[in-house]
Amino acid sequence: MDCLFCKIAAGEIDSKRVYEDDRVVAFRDINPAAPVHVLVVPREHVSRISEAGEEHAELIGRLHLAAGKIAEAEGLKDYRLVINCGEGAGQSVFHVHLHLLGGRPMSWPPG
Ligand code: 5GP
Ligand code: ZN
Repeated sequence: MDCLFCKIAAGEIDSKRVYEDDRVVAFRDINPAAPVHVLVVPREHVSRISEAGEEHAELIGRLHLAAGKIAEAEGLKDYRLVINCGEGAGQSVFHVHLHLLGGRPMSWPPG
């Protein structure tokens, strides 16, 4: 399968990795939208969050727990976690990923 984040998770494409465990890999966004912008991805390919099933419940939880650990390691007290689902919501890479954004004030609602 020709998937950018599968290749990054497998180490076939370089990235600035900040965290990994048996289920999850996290690396810095190539085009950061905040001083800290990390993408947390499952090693398993799931194209978008709406394609996840009951069998992915633990995996989705792990993405969030990993993001919390990374935020702590980055010294972030306040931060935002975002999953874009579908092109209309800004998803451009169709392998589920959780954005961890921090290091600047966050406005609401997001654009
Ligand atoms: P999306 O728009 O799908 O929610 O988020 C995809 C993110 O992946 C974007 O923020 C984009 O900057 C990032 N991205 C795209 N290609 C690469 C890449 O090759 N390496 C890294 N580290 N990030 C990438
Ligand atoms: Zn993939």
